[in-house]
Amino acid sequence: MGVAADMTILDSVVIGAGQAGLSSSFHLRRLGIEHVVLDANARPGGAWQHRWDSLSMADVHGVADLPTATAPGGSEARANEVIAEWFDDYEQAHDLPVLRPVHVREVVDVDGVLGIRSVEGGQWSARTIINATGTWTNPFVPSYPGQRDFAGEQWHTVAYPGAEHFRGKRVIVVGGGTSAVQFLGELAPVTDVLWATRRPPVWNSGGFSGREAIAMVQERVAGGLPPASVVSVTGLALRPQEEAARRTGVYDRRLPMFQRLETGGVRWADGTFEPVDAVLWATGFRPAIRHLAPLGLRSPEGGIALRPGARDVQASVTTVADPRVQMVGYGPSASTIGGNRAGRAAALAVRDHLGRRESA
Ligand SMILES: Cc1cc2nc3c(=O)[nH]c(=O)nc-3n(C[C@H](O)[C@H](O)[C@H](O)COP(=O)(O)OP(=O)(O)OC[C@H]3O[C@@H](n4cnc5c(N)ncnc54)[C@H](O)[C@@H]3O)c2cc1C
Repeated sequence: MGVAADMTILDSVVIGAGQAGLSSSFHLRRLGIEHVVLDANARPGGAWQHRWDSLSMADVHGVADLPTATAPGGSEARANEVIAEWFDDYEQAHDLPVLRPVHVREVVDVDGVLGIRSVEGGQWSARTIINATGTWTNPFVPSYPGQRDFAGEQWHTVAYPGAEHFRGKRVIVVGGGTSAVQFLGELAPVTDVLWATRRPPVWNSGGFSGREAIAMVQERVAGGLPPASVVSVTGLALRPQEEAARRTGVYDRRLPMFQRLETGGVRWADGTFEPVDAVLWATGFRPAIRHLAPLGLRSPEGGIALRPGARDVQASVTTVADPRVQMVGYGPSASTIGGNRAGRAAALAVRDHLGRRESA
């Protein structure tokens, strides 16, 4: 069923109904700010509903509470079901004005008012927007020569089919982040698996606190650079789930990045060829912000610069280029706890902006 557009000028439109969008909507509602939430998914659950089936609540690193609602705890239950149900209940309990499926195609400035246009043909007008679109819909695969000639399978984290799919195959996992570590943990006991990364992975040596790491990401974003993930700063850690894989030595047999793909495998710079049946690109995601391009928010450094938050680095949400645009779940707030805090900060920034506008 299509979603009708609203012709009135709303005080705010939230784009995205994941952790960050729901937190924003909760706080907007609490402040009495008229808004809608537009979400591309047909069902509640943000990106969590699309996580692979073998990711259990015991595997996730910890999901933060939503305002006034305690997050489900660790269990063997599937994260893609548990969190989706939790978000669904939350939207209903707080009567949040989520419209779906609405896939925002672009946000434009029309005589000082923000026009939000969807792929489905809907249009909304707003004085402010809170962008909460996460990264899941923008997977990143680096390009290597011969990628198209490779006759085996290529997968990205976004579509990981589970370890059983690879049983009996020779797989190379590419990427030095948390997802790669988790995939190796699942694959090593059932497949012949190799690990390649561009740079040596940074293991968590206990050197940085989470807060310090978030502050470092915030510094990048304040300078207009594209955000880096918090784990790129804190480092990686093995969990009990990865113990069986660790004993196979998979984490010690890491290879540098191959130079090219060929029909039946990959070739390294020294000419060595490695036959593989499948490449699993655990190469991460980029912020899903293409729809904001018409607003010209990007700095020359390639990121969207955010003003420093008043009290908390995760309260850094307002774009330097346009105070009407708040970014939540972006840069220092790209985690469930960050999205939650940023939602509150964004709602307050919207209130302040509307107040300033009215008094002006
Ligand atoms: C595999 C994986 C595991 C993770 N595990 C953890 C963890 O354990 N703990 C933790 O804190 N963080 C974790 N993270 C990071 C965390 O998931 C995210 O930072 C957080 O959940 C993102 O919430 P969000 O609201 O910003 O975005 P999302 O949950 O991605 O929600 C964004 C929503 O916006 C919608 N959307 C996107 N584009 C548009 C558009 N153009 N128009 C309309 N709607 C749009 C999407 O469909 C989606 O519903 C993990 C990330 C990954 C990839």
